[in-house]
Amino acid sequence: MQYGSKQVNRLPPYLFSVFHQKKKKLQDQGIDVIDLGIGAPDLPTPSFIIDRLAEEARKPENHKYSPYGGCSEYKQAVADFYKKHYSVTLDAETEVHALIGSKEGIAHFLSAILDPGDGVLVPDPGYPVYQSAIHLAYGKVLPLPLHAKKGYVPQFEKVKEADWEQAKLMLLNYPSNPTGGTVERETFAEAVALAKKHKLCMAHDAAYDLVTFEDYKAPSLLQVPGAKEVAVEFGSLSKSFNMTGWRIGYVVGNKELIRALSIVKSNMDTSQFLAIQKAGAAALYSDFSTIKANNAIYQERMKEMITALKKMGIEADQPRGTFFIWAKVPQGETSQTFAEKVLEEAGVIVTPGTAFGKRGEGYIRISLSVPTERLQEAVHRLKKMNGGGSP
Ligand SMILES: *Cc1c(COP(=O)(O)O)cnc(C)c1O
Repeated sequence: MQYGSKQVNRLPPYLFSVFHQKKKKLQDQGIDVIDLGIGAPDLPTPSFIIDRLAEEARKPENHKYSPYGGCSEYKQAVADFYKKHYSVTLDAETEVHALIGSKEGIAHFLSAILDPGDGVLVPDPGYPVYQSAIHLAYGKVLPLPLHAKKGYVPQFEKVKEADWEQAKLMLLNYPSNPTGGTVERETFAEAVALAKKHKLCMAHDAAYDLVTFEDYKAPSLLQVPGAKEVAVEFGSLSKSFNMTGWRIGYVVGNKELIRALSIVKSNMDTSQFLAIQKAGAAALYSDFSTIKANNAIYQERMKEMITALKKMGIEADQPRGTFFIWAKVPQGETSQTFAEKVLEEAGVIVTPGTAFGKRGEGYIRISLSVPTERLQEAVHRLKKMNGGGSP
């Protein structure tokens, strides 16, 4: 007997829980599996943030319910970060809302703004959570193809007229999971213009906003003049400050969209623990030197992995953001067959590109968020795999 609703039972299982089961099965057989499938940082949360949490956790006033939208100190920290980092002005009271991680925020946002059958343009390939959350909100996924040859910018010209009509929302995500694609501000300007033309609202998932390399600085969607009339941007401390388990993020931008989300959220949760919000504020007010150090580690790992892939005859570009390598599988392989081969021959888990949508076929995603020694071991095993199909 299945007790879940039809909508829940129709949902494909969450990708990473499937991998977790697979990994466990192999480990039970005594195989030393290296998991390059998971997208959470391996590095620890910077100690100044932990110190602040400890300090705030001792204060009785932080043990009460938080205001629904988050405490003023945290919301002001987000607004000040936007001012300092992007020169974007936000009203901390109406244009900033705390989230229990951006995943929660995105899912509740979708249920706050979609009516049954409303379409959402979703990047393909893209983060699988979007599709599931749209499904649970009774919306319809409309693919927004990304352009593999042009650094994974959206191919707006490929969206059908009927899809523009049916769409209520356009979702974007840069730096992009899984492709590592990045954009300049002009791409966002084009997206905002199209959203206005077709009367859509927009949401940008900026989970990797600060995980960038060399002199690339990821733009904010809200830097586009007039973007705030139609758009919100989701941010997270998870990836930039290695705080995935802390569950702290935010949404900023259009106050009507934020108001709709806050109605859903205030009936579901009562925001995050105040001590975590205050530690999050300390993170946002910091000089970002810890982020710089993290990014240098990812970049070093990236170089080693790309060298190993080259030896196997696999081409992959070094991305300007995220800790993922999006690599083309060798001739004659599919995403699935190649991912299986890597697992069987090297004991390394990589994610088949098809897990991120139809247009992920022909690619795998390699996550660099494992300790460097483990990554070097994976590199060593991959180099020994001998060509994976190349002559
Ligand atoms: C990790 C990730 C998130 C979720 O971040 P949380 O704030 O931890 O919920 C959202 N979007 C993308 C694209 C991610 O990779």
